[in-house]
Amino acid sequence: AAGKPKNFLEQIIDRDLAEGKVPNGKIITRFPPEPNGFLHLGHATSICLNFGLAETYNGECNLRFDDTNPEKEEQVYVDAIQEDVKWLGFNWSGDVRYASSYFDTFYEWALHLIREGKAYVDFQDAETMRETKGNFTKPGVNSPWRDKSVDENLAEFENMRLGKYDEGKACLRAKIDMQSGNMNMRDPVLYRIRKVPHHQTGDKWCIYPSYDFAHGQEDAIEGVTHSICTLEFEDHKPLYEWFLDNLPVPARPRQYEFARTNLNYVVTSKRKLKRLVDEKVVDGWDDPRMPTVSGMRRRGYTPTSIRKFSEMVGVSRTDGIADFSMLEHAIRDDLNNNAARAMAVLDPLKVVITNMAEGEVQDMTAAAHPNKPELGERVLPFTRELYIDREDFNEDNTLSRKKFKRLVTGEYIRLRSTYVIKHEETIKDDNGEIVEIRCSYVPGTVGENPPEDVKPRGVIHWVSASHGTEAELRMYDRLFNHEAPDRGEEDFLTHINPNSLSVKTAWVEPSLANAAPEQGFQFEREGYFVADRFDHTPEKPVFNLTIGLKDTWAG
Ligand code: ATP
Ligand code: MG
Ligand code: MG
Repeated sequence: AAGKPKNFLEQIIDRDLAEGKVPNGKIITRFPPEPNGFLHLGHATSICLNFGLAETYNGECNLRFDDTNPEKEEQVYVDAIQEDVKWLGFNWSGDVRYASSYFDTFYEWALHLIREGKAYVDFQDAETMRETKGNFTKPGVNSPWRDKSVDENLAEFENMRLGKYDEGKACLRAKIDMQSGNMNMRDPVLYRIRKVPHHQTGDKWCIYPSYDFAHGQEDAIEGVTHSICTLEFEDHKPLYEWFLDNLPVPARPRQYEFARTNLNYVVTSKRKLKRLVDEKVVDGWDDPRMPTVSGMRRRGYTPTSIRKFSEMVGVSRTDGIADFSMLEHAIRDDLNNNAARAMAVLDPLKVVITNMAEGEVQDMTAAAHPNKPELGERVLPFTRELYIDREDFNEDNTLSRKKFKRLVTGEYIRLRSTYVIKHEETIKDDNGEIVEIRCSYVPGTVGENPPEDVKPRGVIHWVSASHGTEAELRMYDRLFNHEAPDRGEEDFLTHINPNSLSVKTAWVEPSLANAAPEQGFQFEREGYFVADRFDHTPEKPVFNLTIGLKDTWAG
């Protein structure tokens, strides 16, 4: 938008465009997830960044599965990732792409390097390879296989491809520089043997390219102009460039790095999230407590809120930890502006309206949203038996009117969108527990001020006992009770909040039975809730707590 300061990537793109470095002036970015888990909030910021840049510059963004590790990848993840990207509101350019559909080309390019004397088959075992690689203070040692002839290397690479060697017995390495100050340049592995079928290529291959040998080449094949990755790949950039310099690639992509998005109170690592799923700490990847895109979705977060959060986080070159409350601020804002209002009583106390006849129904109407008439109205049947929340009644009428703006013995309260009622009588069971209160309604007070002498203490919500319906409310709280669950010495699972889910049975207004799955609401005075995407039905309404009305995380 005009006036908004440009981030460093936009400045780079502006410069590249001005210098004519972008073929046809068309920006192409990509989002390249590995299909080994569901996407999390960190990925969401990368999606917003890559697709957002394409939108800003009238370019395109590819969705590409970086599927070079068949043992950890699965079709369910491929499907879930596509659904998440679409749900966030982005469209990728053309068909979904797969690194695996370039395997033939990568193979040709491996042969090319061998023929040029720039790659060799190494038979050292993993342990020896690690040792001879050296470290920052110790130069590497050349492999005894490094100077074999081109013909020998071609033959051995063919043997690898044909499956003649077991996993770990041989690999293809680039011949670069075992003394390089950059560890990535010390004869990196290009191909390794993995005798596992691949979700896209079946058992066509038993050798698979490494991330480094694949990524830049994928970018080049797709004509990606700006390949944006996270900072840990900065050290891989010389290698990324080396492949582009030494292979007959059709285009010249450029890699730029930005800092990962980290968030307090959650973990953003697929490996750790997978543990939560595998160890059944949560109920699947899309459990509403998970910081996955699909979990946040099921929790009632909207695409707008996640996109807004990404914008707030921005892009930077230095690692930081974003505050989860930013995300909460974004969702609260979106739902406050757009979610329909409804009434739900979480801890029901029966109220009998003594001046209403049994079976009598007075239909009240209320706007679905205070300033969105287009959302229409809902009908609230006012009947002899109602429920209010137990916390909204206190027998003690000496409580100050300022502090307790609810119903007390002998006084008045307004029920939202209907009458003012007066407390008449409290009924208790043998244990002294209040089981019911009796009240009368004050005629002429619907949408009208009560007479002078009638002074309601406040407004509370209510639901008809006879016309309302029971609903399951899943009350979620943060999954971890530690600000940095995975940044200490101890296992991050020790910081699980044992009370991250409690299930309540509430009484809700009749219109809520017809809520559409995934429809979000503000339950007045209670919080924001969403009809569960999978479990909500008119017969058995189920709502998930998205977030409370007020910020409870700060401090
Ligand atoms: P994880 O450690 O969770 O597996 P990853 O980086 O290995 O993350 P990929 O599937 O390779 O996951 O990620 C796809 C894209 O999303 C990459 O470009 C990666 O840089 C980006 N990405 C992943 N995590 C984050 C994050 N926390 N913040 C920003 N971008 C991220
Ligand atoms: Mg990765
Ligand atoms: Mg990973």
